[in-house]
Amino acid sequence: MGTRLSGKVAIVTGGNRGIGRAIAETLACEDATVVIGDLREDRFADCASLERLAFVSLDVTNEASIRAFVDEVLEKFGRIDILVNNAGKVIHKSIDDQTAEDWDWLMAVNLRGPFLMAKYVVPEMRRIGAGTIVNIGSVEGYMVNPWHTAYAATKAGVHGLTLGLAVDLGPDGIRCNTVCPGWIDTELNRAYIEMYPDRSSIERELGQLHPVGRIGAPREVANAVLWLASEESSFVSGEMISVDGARTKKISLPAIVDEEYRVKLTKLQL
Ligand code: NDP
Repeated sequence: MGTRLSGKVAIVTGGNRGIGRAIAETLACEDATVVIGDLREDRFADCASLERLAFVSLDVTNEASIRAFVDEVLEKFGRIDILVNNAGKVIHKSIDDQTAEDWDWLMAVNLRGPFLMAKYVVPEMRRIGAGTIVNIGSVEGYMVNPWHTAYAATKAGVHGLTLGLAVDLGPDGIRCNTVCPGWIDTELNRAYIEMYPDRSSIERELGQLHPVGRIGAPREVANAVLWLASEESSFVSGEMISVDGARTKKISLPAIVDEEYRVKLTKLQL
């Protein structure tokens, strides 16, 4: 157990599972008091693993829920130093199948939610005279998978929100940055892989899309969040930091030209 966040109170939205859970545990391991804000308390109870994690009910699509959440955190824990906007959803639909309701819902979870969370947490950070906001964006804020128009738009929006908050809140001593994960091994993605019969070849090929030869783990995203939440990044604000094993840095090539590189990565995977 470290002490990099001793005395700090952190909020992690969507912290019941996946990347959010890893972030909550990582911040708690550095001595922060961490409040998970998520939809279902039963899921928190299912997997509560550390004494320093607390749960307060939150729906980031609902402004009244956000206000009540922030009030309860302040009442119970007295301050808020760190906000991690992690809760997020994805819609996998073509533009033809996507409805205006789909679009509005995804915007509400992935973009309006982080905006409102910041809006209600910032007065407390101003009172303290310091604070850090870390958003979870995505490499899909820069590039996009097929049928992800709405998702990519929300994540590009999160990147824009980050720039705006960093500029507007800098004078208040508040920093804002975004971590952009690539393919991370969460329940969400495992379910996607399991849709295909030849699971192991998908896993191998996915790994080969990454110059480091593998997909990422939630803890690897959490470590970047920890750095941005801590004083070690005190002059860093308004940045988008990819945690993607260099996947977005490699230009695609026809398979035949890329063969030698893929062979090398296969050896790495063995
Ligand atoms: P998960 O689906 O595993 O976890 C998301 C959590 O957020 C769940 O506990 C979910 O609850 C909760 N949540 C959903 N809607 C709300 C809401 N309205 N209010 C409060 N909590 C909510 O996702 P991941 O861990 O995979 O992803 C976390 C973040 O990382 C997301 O923002 C995602 O876009 C981003 N990301 C993930 C990548 C990946 O490869 N996994 C890649 C790039 C970005 P419930 O389960 O009940 O819906």
